[in-house]
Parts: sequence; structure tokens; C-alpha cells
Amino acid sequence: EIRVRFAPSPTGPLHIGGVRTALYNYLFAKKNQGKFLLRIEDTDQARYVAGAEEYIRESLEWLGITPDESPWNPGNVGPYRQSERKADYMQYALDLVEKGHAYYAFDTSEELEAMRERLTAARVVQPQYNSITRTQMKNSLTLPEDEVKARLASGEPYVIRVKIPRKEEVRFHDQIRGWVMVHTSTLDDKVLMKSDGMPTYHLANIVDDHRMGITHVIRGEEWLPSAPLHVLLYKYFGWEDTMPEFAHLPLLLKPDGNGKLSKRDGDRMGFPVFPLDWKNEETGDSAMGFREQEYLPEALLNFLAFLGWNPGDERELFTKEELVEAFSIERIGKAGAKFDIAKAKWYNEQYLRARSNTDLADFVIEAAKKDGVELDSNKAEAIVSLTKERVTFPGEMWTQCRFLVNAPKEFDEQVASKKWNADAVAVLSAYAEKLSKFEGTYDSEVAKTLLGETADELEIKLGKIMQAVRLAVTGVGAGPDLMEIFAILGAGEVANRIQFAIE
Ligand code: GLU
Repeated sequence: EIRVRFAPSPTGPLHIGGVRTALYNYLFAKKNQGKFLLRIEDTDQARYVAGAEEYIRESLEWLGITPDESPWNPGNVGPYRQSERKADYMQYALDLVEKGHAYYAFDTSEELEAMRERLTAARVVQPQYNSITRTQMKNSLTLPEDEVKARLASGEPYVIRVKIPRKEEVRFHDQIRGWVMVHTSTLDDKVLMKSDGMPTYHLANIVDDHRMGITHVIRGEEWLPSAPLHVLLYKYFGWEDTMPEFAHLPLLLKPDGNGKLSKRDGDRMGFPVFPLDWKNEETGDSAMGFREQEYLPEALLNFLAFLGWNPGDERELFTKEELVEAFSIERIGKAGAKFDIAKAKWYNEQYLRARSNTDLADFVIEAAKKDGVELDSNKAEAIVSLTKERVTFPGEMWTQCRFLVNAPKEFDEQVASKKWNADAVAVLSAYAEKLSKFEGTYDSEVAKTLLGETADELEIKLGKIMQAVRLAVTGVGAGPDLMEIFAILGAGEVANRIQFAIE
């Protein structure tokens, strides 16, 4: 059975790249009738942020990519939170010490700093704790056995480091990059167990992937440099046969393609890098999210799917089910994917238009309620049909039509200064006069015919005064189809508004 996992660290808001990783894992699992797991990697207590876990859960649920197994919905390979498995990891680290693939290190931070300074002074480009430098440091490979025992017994702080061999080639296959080859001289003796008794990411990640039966590791490219160490750990534990397949996803690039996408780009260009509303419970910081900007989940999902993957043909619109059907790792590219927010908006427009009018009417009713306006469903649906082809976000349907409910008290000065004139006033007052006597059905056709007749009678070109007519009735110079608006308002209300405007 195929088993994949999304393994975020609850250190803050979820970057949109993380959401894409979760989505690809989900699609791959569903496509292959496998399982999609969520594991919380919370071994770094110093970076733990309250509320982050809940936020991850909500984000995934909102997008409809709910895990099959998670801390809230555990299967039988739990716990699904690494902090709850703390006691176990030490056993695994000790196993490696016993096999000679790891060792105790007692160096203080001052000693480590001194080592780095010494190497930097000797012009070593990347000073690190490795097969060469460890011979000068305080660890169980250099100290006499008795002393190591005595230090451990006395409760002196220590870490456990992996012993990276000096001259070896690590080779592994990545489903996106192909064969990757790394020489161990470029790797360092990473810490596996920290002095606080917590495992590091590397140890916990490998142990858990093994114990949870993970078959494929699909994650961001930033983890590619860690993969050689992971491959060595699988070998040292004797788990080579069940080592997962790797697939490192391409980077998300800035909209112009120059460099990695960062939160700052998002802030600067006015789009959120976070998927949902984010609030740090401790500091109260919040960030505008995709949900708050009124992206529809199905639109965001479709947009994210295309950041690094494509179906190999021209199709762009895919429901979640269609994505599952079409998805394959072979069609994920190596090249970084540009994060083009205009495309995200385009997707939102498509999916908004695909929603039913009754569905959208609910959005309008909600938005109006926030403005303190109660709308009945007839009016809300009229607003929907007037605006749904013109907007990107659902809330705009209401903001573009607020004037339907609230007659304008003020008029756009700029439009007025250019378009308001005696001809306009003449037609408007004659039209209001006509309307006050009008009986019958006032629909958009009738509204238009009457207005045309009025202008003809005065020998004034309607085209020249249309914007002034709009200004009088809506208060602004642009908006949805004006005659539809007239029909919704009704003859009496149009006449009243015109009276108010020309006085
Ligand atoms: N905890 C890591 C992260 O925050 C997981 C990386 C992995 O998938 O191996 O991204």
C-alpha cells in the first residue's frame, strides 16, 4: 500500500509552498488508492508556536485535503506528534552508537565556536564538525572509554552525532531529479539527539517514516541537501529494503521568476503567502490569508496544483477529483514554478462563475449583513446576476451594488466635474417626470426605451449623458449594466434618486 505524509513543523503560519506539498501528497495517495498521513514535527520546542497546529488542520480541511491519519484522526502507527514519542528516539540513537555509526559529543558551545573560528582563520570555506575536525573535539571517539562513562554518569550534557564516513559516495534516486550523487566529504556529523533529550529533525523524521510505513517522501526542494544523510541513516539502521522513494518538488519562485518566493514578496505585491487567516496566539499578529481575500477553496486548489505540475495538454480547469485522476509524479517539472497571482485570480473568477446563483446569493447576503443591511434572497440573486461576470472575489458583488440598497448621498466629484451639465439635467428631469406617471412593468428594456425617447424628444444624444445618468442614480461613474440596475430599483426609486441628484 502506498503511504505518504505531510510533516509540517508547528512553528508559525503555513507557507503556501507547504500547502502545495500537502496537496501533491494528497493527490498522489488518492490516485494510487493509498493513505495520506499528517505528522506534526514538533521536536524543536524553542520554535513551537501555539495555535499553529490547529491552523494547519483548518487549512487542510478548508481545501478539502483532509489526512486519512493524523493526530486528530489517528491510525495504528501513532503517535502522530513527535513530542509524544520523545522517549523512543533515544533507543534508536543508542542503537547507532552501539553499531559504531554515531557517538557522544561533549563539546560546549564555546568549544564549538572556537573550532569554527580556528577553521575560518585557516580559510576553511565551510567550517564543520566532520570526519577531520572531530578528531580534535571532545567526544566518545577521542576520549578514553572510562572518561566517557564517567562524564555520562555525572550527568554532563552531551549530544549524539552521526559518524559520517570520510570517503564514500552516497547515491540515491529521486523521482523528479533522477540520480543524485553526493560525496560524504561534503557532509557534516549532524546532531541526532540534542542535549535536552529531544531528537533532531533528521533522526525523528527517519525513525517515523520507517515506523509509519511511509513509501514515498514528497517534499520541498529545500530538503534535498538533507537526503544523503537520510539515505545513510536508512542504511545504518538496516532499513534499506523499505527506504521510501524520494520526490523533491521544485521551488516556488517570485512572480517575476527571480529567486525564491518569500513572505516579503507577498506583502509587497499585495497577495498573501499564507493560505488562511493566521493569528499568532501569543503575539496577536495576524496575516491576511487567501480565505480572507475570498479565494474559493476549489480555485486555490486548482491554482496550486499547477505550480510545478501540468497534465501535458491544454486543459487548465480541474476539480479535485479530476486532479486525482490526472496526477502523476512523472509530470512534475524540475524547474522552479513562478507564483503568478494574476493566474490565481483568473482561477477564482472561473470558479466563481461556475457556482450557482443561489450559492452566490448567500455570499451577497452575508456581505450585506456585515454592512448592517438585510437583503432578501430575490434582491441578492438579482445582485448576483448583475455582477458575477464582472468580479474576481465574491464580496465585490456586494460592494459593487451597495448603492442598490443605500441611495447615494454623495456623488463622485471627478465624474461630476467632467460629465454633469445642463443637457444631462434636462434629460434626467424629463425622465423622472415620465417615471412618476409610469404604470406597468418597468424592466430593463422598458427603462431603456423610455430613456431613449426622452433624450430624442429633447434632441440630446444619449451617449453623451449616460455617465451623468449613472452618477445621479448610483453616485459613481462606473458599474454593472445600468438598465438592469434601474429595473431592480423600480421606477419610483429611480425617479426619487434623480430628483435628489438634480436638486
Ligand atoms: N518538518 C519538516 C518541515 O517542516 C518536514 C520535511 C520533510 O518532509 O521531510 O518541512
